[in-house]
Amino acid sequence: MCGIVGYIGTRDAYPILINGLKRLEYRGYDSAGVALVTENGEINLYKCKGKVKNLEEFVSNSDLSGHVGIAHTRWATHGEPNDVNAHPHYSHSGSIAIIHNGIIENYAVLKEALMENGYEFKSDTDTEVLVNLIEYVRMTNNCSLLEAVQGALKQVIGAYAIAVVEKGNPKEIIAARQSSPLVVGIGKGEFFLASDASPLVEYTDKVVYIKNGEIALLNIDSPLKVVDFDNVESKVNVKKLEMSISQLEKGGYPHFMLKEINEQPKTITDCIRGRISPDSFEVKLSGIIDHADKFLNARRIVFVACGTSWHASLIGKRMIEEYCQIPVVVEYASEFRYSNPVICDKDIVIAVSQSGETADTLAAIELAKSKGAFVFGICNVIGSSIARETDSGVYLHVGPEIGVASTKAFTGQVTVMAMIALTVAKEKGTISEEKAVTIARDLYRLPKVLEKVLTLNNQIADFVKRFTYAKNFIYLGRGYNYPTALEGALKLKEISYIHAEGYPAAEMKHGPIALIDQDMPTVAIAVTDHVYEKVVSNIQEVKSRGGVVIAIVAEKDEIVSKMADFCIKVPSLSECLMPIVVAVPLQLFAYHIAVCKGLDVDQPRNLAKSVTVE
Ligand code: GLU
Repeated sequence: MCGIVGYIGTRDAYPILINGLKRLEYRGYDSAGVALVTENGEINLYKCKGKVKNLEEFVSNSDLSGHVGIAHTRWATHGEPNDVNAHPHYSHSGSIAIIHNGIIENYAVLKEALMENGYEFKSDTDTEVLVNLIEYVRMTNNCSLLEAVQGALKQVIGAYAIAVVEKGNPKEIIAARQSSPLVVGIGKGEFFLASDASPLVEYTDKVVYIKNGEIALLNIDSPLKVVDFDNVESKVNVKKLEMSISQLEKGGYPHFMLKEINEQPKTITDCIRGRISPDSFEVKLSGIIDHADKFLNARRIVFVACGTSWHASLIGKRMIEEYCQIPVVVEYASEFRYSNPVICDKDIVIAVSQSGETADTLAAIELAKSKGAFVFGICNVIGSSIARETDSGVYLHVGPEIGVASTKAFTGQVTVMAMIALTVAKEKGTISEEKAVTIARDLYRLPKVLEKVLTLNNQIADFVKRFTYAKNFIYLGRGYNYPTALEGALKLKEISYIHAEGYPAAEMKHGPIALIDQDMPTVAIAVTDHVYEKVVSNIQEVKSRGGVVIAIVAEKDEIVSKMADFCIKVPSLSECLMPIVVAVPLQLFAYHIAVCKGLDVDQPRNLAKSVTVE
C-alpha cells in the first residue's frame, strides 16, 4: 500500500512523477504529494488530501521545475487522511524530505526520544518520526546523508520502502527497503524509482529489484550503487522488464475492473500456455516437477493467503485433497504468522498472493521457512518478493491487475491450483488417466467457455438495477462453490459497499436464515455438481421464507430455473473448474451494482491493492 515514485536525471521530474503516481494509485489514494529539488538545491514540496488529480489541480500554478523529485500516493496507517499527514514529510529543520510506504512499528518510542531532544512534529504519521530520526543522526554525528539513513534505519523496527532527498543536494536520491517493495529503473543518465515497475515501463526496460536491508544510491554522476546498513556493497543485478504500456491502460473500457473481467479468456490462455499439452492434455508445471520428491512425501500442505487469494486457496484445498490425497489446510497468513503453527520439514507451505508483496504472506513464508517447511509460491507479479523468497513456485501470467477488486487474478489462481493438483496427482498416481485428461481438456476449453459467459454482461447489467436498494446480500454455495460464494460476497462488499456474506448453503439454517426476508436477496450457486440437489433444498428453504433468489445455474437446468426469481445460466465443465466459470457472472454482478450506485469501482473507499502493511 502507498505508491512511491522517484526520478533523477535530465528531464523535468514532475510529469514523470505525476504519471508514475497515476500508475500506482491502485496502491492508495488517501492523499498525494511531490517534492521537487530545483537546480540550486531548493526543495518545493506540494501535497494535499485526495487523489492524484487533486494534487494536479493543487499545483497548477506552482513552480514545478527540477530534474530530481520524489512523490507519493498514500494509504493511511498512522494519522487520518488529510493535507498535513500527506507525504512527502519534511524533517524538523526542513532540510530533508521523505516518502515512505510501510509502518514504523517503534515510532512512539523514537518520537518520545526525539521530542526530548527538542523535535516538534506537525503530522500524526510514523513517517515524520523516521525523517526526523535521519536528521537527528545526521546532525549529532555530523555524517553524510547516507550514513544518517543507515544509522536511523538500524534503530527502526517495521516495514518500509523510503526515498529521501536533501536540500542543497540536487544530485542524489537515497532509497531503502525492508519488507515493502522497491524497484529502480536504469535509463541513460537517469534513474527511476517506484513501488512496482509500472511507472518505469515507458522509460526503460532495465530494472533492479532492491532487496530487504538494501539502500540504493541514485546519484546523477555515478552508476547505481547498492549497499546495506553497514555499507557493504552488493552486486547490482539488472533484470529485463517484461511489461507493456497497453497492459497498464484501460483499452477503451470505462474501468480497469471491467477490462480485467473481459480479459479473462486471454489471461487463462496465457496462464495455461506451455503448461498443458494440446495433444495429450498432459499438465506439466516445472516448479512442481523439479521438486516432485517434496510433493510425493508431503505430510501436509498448508496454504497461507489473504482475501481473494485465501478464497482461491480454499478451492485449491479441495482439488488437492480430492486428486492428490494429501491433507490440506488453509490459513489466513495474518493469523498463521502469530499462531505458533506446528510445521515441520515434511510440510509444504504454499503462499498465494497476486502482488507477491502481501506483508502478512511474506511474514508467513519466513516463519514456515524457519520451521523447515518447503515453501512454494503462487503469485502474479514477476520478480516480486514472494517469487524471490520461496523455494519454488508458479506464476499466474495474467498480466498486471490494476482494479482494486481482484478478478482475473482469482481465476488465474484457481487455474494454477488445478494445474498443481493435476501435476502432483499424476506424479503420485492418485488420479485416473481418464479423469486427468477430462479436467485438463476442460482447462483447455476454459477460455472459450469464459467468452460465452461474458456475453451475459448485458443481461446482468440490466437486472442488477433492481437490487441497488439492498443493504444486505447472502451468497450461498456448496462444495467447490462455497469458496466462490465467499468470493462473490467479497466482490460486492468491496466495490458496492453493500454488506454481503458468503455461506456454505446448508450452514445458513444455523443462523443467517433468520435474516432472510424480501429485503435481503440471496445469490445461490446451483450448478450441476454432486451437491446440486442439496443446494436445491437450501434454495427452497429461502423461498419458503419469502426470500428473493438470484441463481447461477447450468444451461440445461430445469429445477432451480423455475424456483429462482432471476437466473444466470452458465456452461458446465468439470466440477472443480466451475468456480472459475461462476466467478465471472459474480464479478459482473458486483461491478454493475457498483456502477448503478455511481461508485468508484477501481478505487473503492478505504481499500488499496497490494497490502504491504500488516
Ligand atoms: N505509515 C505511513 C502513513 O501512514 C505510510 C502508510 C503506507 O505505506 O501505507 O502515512
